[in-house]
Order: sequence, then structure tokens, then C-alpha cells
Amino acid sequence: MSAVWFAGFALIVAVGYAGACYVKPFTACHRCKGTGTAPPPAWRRVLRRTTSPRALRGRHDCRRCTGTGLRLRIGRRVVNHFRRLRRHAGR
Ligand SMILES: [Zn+2]
Repeated sequence: MSAVWFAGFALIVAVGYAGACYVKPFTACHRCKGTGTAPPPAWRRVLRRTTSPRALRGRHDCRRCTGTGLRLRIGRRVVNHFRRLRRHAGR
């Protein structure tokens, strides 16, 4: 009977995750950790031969989140996908 318990547990986790994605659809971007900026590429740092804060101020927008510092959660992406499907199905 342990398989039933496991299925129930998995269901609870799935529902909890779906709820979390609904309440908080965005999470901090992994690349910039929510700051929205990314440090200059390593080759430029080598070119300037410095790691001083002044040189690092030339930070540009994070490419992954385009400077927002936010990233859509995977679960929310799934929700959006199904919403789109339903909209295209008519009704
Ligand atoms: Zn980012």
C-alpha cells in the first residue's frame, strides 16, 4: 500500500507547487540573482586588468532576464501553456 501513500504525497507536493506558482509566478533570475545586472564579461576585465568596484560599475543588463531580475517559474510556464491551449480551443 506504500505506492498509494507515495502517490498521495506526490499529489500534495504537486498541488503545493502549483499553488506557489500561482501566488508567486516569478522567482529571482539565476544568472544575476535578482539584481537585473550582470558583471562585464571576463575578457573585458582582463583587458582592463582590474577588478576594482569602479570598473565593475559598467554592469550591463542581464541577458537572461533583460534587466528585470525576474524569471518566470517553470510551473507558471506550464499554466500559461494550458491557458493558451484553452483559449485556442474556443468557448
Ligand atoms: Zn538576470
